[in-house]
Amino acid sequence: MTARASDIEKAAGVLRTGGLVAFPTETVYGLGANADDPAAVARIFQAKGRPTSHPLIVHLGGAELLDDWVEDVSATARLLAERFWPGPLTLVLRRGRRVPLEATGGLETVAVRVPDHPVALALLAAFGGGVTAPSANRFGQVSPTTAYHVGAELGDAVDFVLDGGPCGVGVESTIVDVTGEIPSILRPGGVTREDLEAVLGCPLAVHSTSGVRVPGQHPSHYAPRARLVLVEPEKVVAEAELAQELGHQVGVLLPPAFTDAPVKAHAVVTLPGSPAAYARGLYGFLRELDQQGCELIVASLPAEEGLGLAIANRLRRAAGPRLTA
Ligand code: AMP
Ligand code: MG
Repeated sequence: MTARASDIEKAAGVLRTGGLVAFPTETVYGLGANADDPAAVARIFQAKGRPTSHPLIVHLGGAELLDDWVEDVSATARLLAERFWPGPLTLVLRRGRRVPLEATGGLETVAVRVPDHPVALALLAAFGGGVTAPSANRFGQVSPTTAYHVGAELGDAVDFVLDGGPCGVGVESTIVDVTGEIPSILRPGGVTREDLEAVLGCPLAVHSTSGVRVPGQHPSHYAPRARLVLVEPEKVVAEAELAQELGHQVGVLLPPAFTDAPVKAHAVVTLPGSPAAYARGLYGFLRELDQQGCELIVASLPAEEGLGLAIANRLRRAAGPRLTA
């Protein structure tokens, strides 16, 4: 789905005057601000309720703009940019002077990517600069994959929402740190580890962190309102039915292999067989189960290969301990 040219112009104008624009990308909807405007960037953190130490991604309209924003671009970084941009790959590089520290959480590195979505690219072209954007949701919550989700999450906190239809990939970008000799994956996402390894010709380590700087705190992320419980695939049905019998309103993310008998639970989503369809639907499924009033969601982890690595990462984080009850 594309946006009207007048809406693109309007959104670019909002960015120029220091406002916040929610826009579609192929991964999830982003909450964008002019990357050259520290006050506008600061508004993102307010709107999301996000700690200012959590860095954002700078979105660019093309790989040729990379050197305006970062320094020390290695041959590896260039290769990955050339091969995967536009696309769901974010590169962490040394911060160029142009990037305000507000956008990097005070870090001397910056995350950059070129999104593969016609509306995002049209916005970036019309605006002309870089757009800092995290996902367009309240901090710690499920990321939005439709314009409707953005409204439900942020309401009036965003000045303009560009609607580009549902996101095609559905999980966030893969973040690769290319500041050192050996690249590593900081967050699995839309570009698979296998595809990266095929291009680099070497194995890639996954150093996924919670992104939390305060020791001892590991709040959940990507989390629905309902508590998410992860069990072995063959135990999903039994766990769900037991919890339902005990009086909970239980939602189920049912692996496709276990769909024979009806499950005695409050709400059931039968997962698609293909990892791409699962990734595309994941956040919508969690929102749907919340909406149906589930207190508990029972799910299992998919095989951690291909897009399954990103899906499993999000489910684990969503099931993580909560700071508040
Ligand atoms: P979000 O799209 O909401 O997940 O936010 C952007 C993501 O990029 C967060 O997970 C950040 O931790 C990550 N990120 C941004 N900049 C950096 C950086 N310089 N180093 C490591 N991770 C980063
Ligand atoms: Mg996010």
